[in-house]
Amino acid sequence: MTAILGAPATGVVAPDGINGFYEPVPEDNVPRLRRSAGTAGIEVAGEMSHAEHLAAVRAGEIGSMHSWELVTAVDGPGTRLTVFLAGCPLRCLYCHNPDTLKMKDGEPVAVDTLLTRVRRYLPVFRATGGGLTVSGGEPLMQPAFLGRLLRGAREMGVHTTIDTSGFLGTHASEALLDDLDLVLLDVKSGLPETYRRTTGRDLQPTLDFSRRLSDRGTAMWIRFVLVPGLTDAYDNVEAVADHVATLATVQRVEVLPFHQMGRDKWDRLGMTYELGDTAAPEPELVERVRGQFRERGLTVY
Ligand code: SF4
Repeated sequence: MTAILGAPATGVVAPDGINGFYEPVPEDNVPRLRRSAGTAGIEVAGEMSHAEHLAAVRAGEIGSMHSWELVTAVDGPGTRLTVFLAGCPLRCLYCHNPDTLKMKDGEPVAVDTLLTRVRRYLPVFRATGGGLTVSGGEPLMQPAFLGRLLRGAREMGVHTTIDTSGFLGTHASEALLDDLDLVLLDVKSGLPETYRRTTGRDLQPTLDFSRRLSDRGTAMWIRFVLVPGLTDAYDNVEAVADHVATLATVQRVEVLPFHQMGRDKWDRLGMTYELGDTAAPEPELVERVRGQFRERGLTVY
């Protein structure tokens, strides 16, 4: 394997003062070494010194993983192995996976171990037109590991996708993007103040990343989570739709109605869940929002 795949140019610093995790990886973010037998059938990394472990994480040979699952008809075309990496810089009020937010809470897993699992599903991917999706958390929190994983999958001829907010888009090198067939880009709001209220972060990095993907010809599926009283304002949706309509490589827009399925996790983690009284959107509201995207000639689901 050549030098660190997927690592952006030295010195790149993510927006909002978040330093890249590749050079160097802050020690606080390294998943704890455990000697367990595995996570859901994937053997976790172990049997190395702390210094060796840290070096392997920084090189992208070991990543911090929350879990994986085999899914159909979500997270990209066909049947997919979706890998959830640990760590995310956003704090979305509706996050369904709040247990993935801290990189240090994930299980350390070797990239070769994950690629062995990808290889096992090759017949499934071929039969269904599926592939590998890396989600999270935020996959671009671990660009070196992600880059190696995507490269290895590509070498097997596997269709590759990431599910990202785009907030850490500057972490993605051109080499990493070359190894992607599709980006599922979550645009969580169109007005900066609504985006900040929803995620705790700035909107602009997502807009910049989407423009970069469009300019370089990378296919995108845009995802927008519709939350009554939070993201549903007409002008907020108009702003998302206006921007998305300017992107040349958007294949579809998915409007995802908010639901309460992640709530229990917040309670279990002792985190304050602000959307406890928020209901799922009425069908009329969902149709109104989908219509706002369709008016611009976009394919909407
Ligand atoms: S970007 Fe995704 S994982 Fe991160 S806080 Fe938002 S919903 Fe949760």
